Amino acid sequence: MITSDINLAIESLKKGNVIAIPTETVYGLAGNAFEESSVNKIFKIKNRPSFNPLIVHVPNPKYINKIAQNIPKIAQKLSKHFWPGPLTLVLEKQKHISDIVTAGKSTVAVRVPNHKLTLDLLSKLPFPLVAPSANPFGFTSSTSADHVIEYFADKIDLILDGGVSLKGIESTIIGFENDNAVLYRHGSIPIEEIEKIIGKVEIKNKNNLSPEAPGMLKRHYAPKTKIVFSNDFIKSIKSYPNKKIGILCLKKIKKIPKSVHQEVLSSDGNLNEAAKNLYASLHKLDRLNLDLILTSIVPEYELGRSINDRLRRAVEVEN
Ligand code: AMP
Ligand code: MG
Repeated sequence: MITSDINLAIESLKKGNVIAIPTETVYGLAGNAFEESSVNKIFKIKNRPSFNPLIVHVPNPKYINKIAQNIPKIAQKLSKHFWPGPLTLVLEKQKHISDIVTAGKSTVAVRVPNHKLTLDLLSKLPFPLVAPSANPFGFTSSTSADHVIEYFADKIDLILDGGVSLKGIESTIIGFENDNAVLYRHGSIPIEEIEKIIGKVEIKNKNNLSPEAPGMLKRHYAPKTKIVFSNDFIKSIKSYPNKKIGILCLKKIKKIPKSVHQEVLSSDGNLNEAAKNLYASLHKLDRLNLDLILTSIVPEYELGRSINDRLRRAVEVEN
């Protein structure tokens, strides 16, 4: 069922079900964070490895005192400034938070999402929600109810439809090591914005097999269609004469043959708009039954870093 009635969502969540919820970043597969059987269902539906911890979504900044402890001053400063919003803080967990949620870690990831419907839902629930992105593990995230239906129509009973996600890219994840802020995942808030508030932040989002944050895993966010980087689209198109090709690019590229589908992220190269459109464009290209998607990185600053991070993990590296 697709609905925007939060009462139906509340009823379903209270029964221990998993539902899809909208957020400003991407859609989430949500369940009761305090109920291990609900959390387990999410891992199963997503085919998510158990080493990959979940983000706990709470209705307001004060609520973190029920989840986390020994919260560093800079974390409080960040929460004051950016919540509700697309910033996830990794904090020391309280004992009662399940090891299944945190993948056995002593820390827990928390955020207050900035989406009216979901904030309303959270404020009326007697528990917080874990809500990893609504996609099978490794695949492109969902930024609309349509995307969620394509992936999970037969696996979940309810999708709370809150329109298209306004940010379109996951939250920025910040942790604290010896009380210093460390960036674990580039996301919807550019690192430059965070540094304006707390000064220099160390970046630790390298590819890694035993990742601090599995958004760090090498192959992630991927469309079903093969996607590769190209430095020269015209030349690359010529080198695949018998293939059905699509292009994913920041701005319109001239002289591309008409037979090649061109998916433009932002007509004037605006990185915020490009971030918002990134996953929807990948979903669109996936529906065209192409043999291959060609793409290239965008300028490496502000949200360009987050877009490039996703593209680098989505592409197949050809040996
Ligand atoms: P998703 O909601 O699917 O975008 O994934 C949530 C992200 O938050 C994953 O990359 C997690 O690894 C990360 N995360 C959750 N809990 C922690 C934690 N305790 N430490 C570091 N990263 C975390
Ligand atoms: Mg995800």
